[in-house]
Amino acid sequence: MTEPLFRRVALIGIGLIGSSMALAMRRHGLAGEIVCATRSEKSRAAALRLGLVDAVHEDAASAARGADLVVLATPIGAFARIAAEIGPVVAAGTIVTDVGSVKGMVLRDVGPHLPLNVHLVPGHPVAGTEHSGPESGFAELFENRWCILTPPDDADAAAVDKVEALWAAMGAKVDRMSAQHHDLVLAITSHVPHLIAYNIVGTASDLEAVTQSEVIKYSAGGFRDFTRIAASDPTMWRDIFLNNREAVLEMLGRFVEDLTALQRAIRWGEGDALFDLFTKTRAIRRSIVDAGQETPAADFGRRVPGGGE
Ligand code: NAP
Repeated sequence: MTEPLFRRVALIGIGLIGSSMALAMRRHGLAGEIVCATRSEKSRAAALRLGLVDAVHEDAASAARGADLVVLATPIGAFARIAAEIGPVVAAGTIVTDVGSVKGMVLRDVGPHLPLNVHLVPGHPVAGTEHSGPESGFAELFENRWCILTPPDDADAAAVDKVEALWAAMGAKVDRMSAQHHDLVLAITSHVPHLIAYNIVGTASDLEAVTQSEVIKYSAGGFRDFTRIAASDPTMWRDIFLNNREAVLEMLGRFVEDLTALQRAIRWGEGDALFDLFTKTRAIRRSIVDAGQETPAADFGRRVPGGGE
């Protein structure tokens, strides 16, 4: 029998992403032992009941002690505190990675707390659903989805290769880029779209001229697809906007300019301008389907696992 990739994996946080990693690692025999730390008794009990892990801990330090891979899988706002807790107990040569949706902040908040002989390899699986918690995970979540690694320039090459091997073994396609570039790309592909969804659903719920029941009744006209995104975890998304401020504000600036141009086109009856834009955007949708990142199904592929953030 071949050795697993990691002897002991410590998942700090066992929600959608942590539990999906546990299930995928078990399915593919990637870890000798999997333990987790999570703050609530409810999630600790669920992790054991669902057989996600071999042991549960209340605090991050006891889970991380003796692990050769530590994965931060909580909302990113908690990373600095967790890194300060695990820094003194992680052994030399340990790899610390994370699954956070913003990457520049990991180097800022986690890096300084770790000893120099511990290898930090930040990562972001671009896969998810709007569901949270240990019950929402599934082993196939990362299959055929991208995972972006953002190792710092001086990262240990063997450690980066090992984290890449882990994601590849869980079925993901892996890319590497700088943290700064990641944050800019994700601002437009994920963060701004979520903000737009939160905003439009918020606007609709505040409307006085249209009743709530009408909004729900006629939601298939487009609104429904925004509500799925706007149902995403509030803590996670608050932390994303607080920690990717510059890139989101830059992309939002571009977005508002383009929206103003559309507003003007509608006001002046510029049908050609509207038609040209809608034709261009249709082609982008087609290339996403062609790249296997979505199905052409009329329900926007909502039943396809892993199509989210
Ligand atoms: P989740 O399902 O809400 O689970 C969060 C986990 O973190 C739970 O174990 C929770 O503990 C713990 N936690 C929550 N707040 C905490 C705090 N303040 N301090 C310490 N622990 C805390 O979250 P998730 O969807 O797996 O997301 C985890 C990370 O993955 C986030 O950083 C997110 O940016 C990233 N990510 C998410 C997605 C997605 O679509 N969901 C996709 C890619 C990356 P209890 O349950 O015990 O309260």
